[in-house]
Amino acid sequence: MDYLPLAVRLKDQAVLLVGGGQIALRKASLLVRAGALVSVVAPTIEAELAQMIDAYGGRLLRRPFEESDIADQRLVVVATDDAVINQRVAQLAQARGLYVNVVDHPDASNVIFPAIIDRSPLLIAISSAGTSPVLVRLLRARIESSIPAAYGRLAVLAGELRQQVKEHLRPITQRRRFWEHLLQGRFAELVWAGQEDAARLYAQEQLSAADSLPASGEVYLVGAGPGDPDLLTFKALRLMQQADVIVYDRLVGAGILDLCRRDAERIYVGKARSNHTLPQEDINTVLAERARRGQRVCRLKGGDPFIFGRGGEEIEHLMEQGIPFQVVPGITAASGCAAYAGIPLTHRDHAQSVRFVAGFLRDGRVDLPWAELVQEGQTLVLYMALVSLPLIAAQLLAHGMRPSMPVALIARGTQRGQTVVTGTLDTVEHILQQPGLTAPTLAIVGDVVLLRERLHWYSS
Ligand code: SAH
Repeated sequence: MDYLPLAVRLKDQAVLLVGGGQIALRKASLLVRAGALVSVVAPTIEAELAQMIDAYGGRLLRRPFEESDIADQRLVVVATDDAVINQRVAQLAQARGLYVNVVDHPDASNVIFPAIIDRSPLLIAISSAGTSPVLVRLLRARIESSIPAAYGRLAVLAGELRQQVKEHLRPITQRRRFWEHLLQGRFAELVWAGQEDAARLYAQEQLSAADSLPASGEVYLVGAGPGDPDLLTFKALRLMQQADVIVYDRLVGAGILDLCRRDAERIYVGKARSNHTLPQEDINTVLAERARRGQRVCRLKGGDPFIFGRGGEEIEHLMEQGIPFQVVPGITAASGCAAYAGIPLTHRDHAQSVRFVAGFLRDGRVDLPWAELVQEGQTLVLYMALVSLPLIAAQLLAHGMRPSMPVALIARGTQRGQTVVTGTLDTVEHILQQPGLTAPTLAIVGDVVLLRERLHWYSS
């Protein structure tokens, strides 16, 4: 992050604007809207700009910039079309430790103006740190069209009620829930319809009713998919954004955690191979205990919670305790990795069934129904098999699978840095020596692996 967006209160603060043309005019209109005391300095100042500054009680200095102009300023904005002047003012201002913006020159600036969507008091700022103004414009158009103008009024009414709600509903979780309910339901509809008095009345009724309702907790068992945040479901995202607590493990990457509610508490429960930070029983206890306190707990799991995810054990425990829960399916590693690596798991000609197999070692052994696994026309997807793959390959060979059976290993599937390595059952040792095969890794065994080359797949 090269810039931190801060909302600055400029009311009655001195701001120097160097330049008197159209670009200066655009910046001036923003600065006066924020209540700044703007001094404009330029040999010629366009009439529209001069009128605006006059109307807001600013100063017009119709002469070239002088070094003393920057004394006592809070912010300096440079908007001339003379690169030499722009540079000089920027250097002088920076040397004095002032905030300075040179329009369209992020390199010479230490602050930049983000694009804004103004629904005052609600403001949305977008910035690409100067890298792509067009991208910012496109995004802004998208957001502009999806946020009704009355959102500002919604914020005003919420602001009026804030103190009262705070006094009335003491526990923060109860307050938060009250606001979520109010801002997503009839109250918002009434404000958007312009019926503000009715909205106020409705809010008062809801506030009296909220008092008598005990806050009840819940657990969401959410499948977060194999890593690419775009593979989350809408439901997963919604619950991630309303949960008070996020309980996650190693399979859940930063890109996904970033989409959770910012102020939610995060509890890491580990779960790498042979590095169980919290034993399963303790995870069960944490989930139940938090929900009993009235919190909404999002247990984020890699892939799908019910595929090698011990989701079944977690809900069993919750059921015993009488704690309400929801399960949200996710894209399991097999689907995600196969799609991103270009390997169809089934195919009319090559595989009529697919089997998901857990390859973890127990006491140095893998116990699997080998005879069933070597059947023709079946794709095997091996989870947790990076370490045990040589053992599994030896067993499959011993039970009659042909040595030339294609094998693919997909590491960090769907994520940046996804690595796909292919070979055959009798070259597994060699495949495993290829670079980039770090956990999590999934193995696919079957003729469908060859389709990857036939389809000329390119890695996304
Ligand atoms: N519930 C998960 C599986 C958990 S078991 C799911 O449905 O996907 C953990 C195993 O999943 C890992 O050992 C690895 O084999 C596989 N896995 C999970 N995410 C993966 C990814 N992004 N790329 C490759 N394999 C992955």
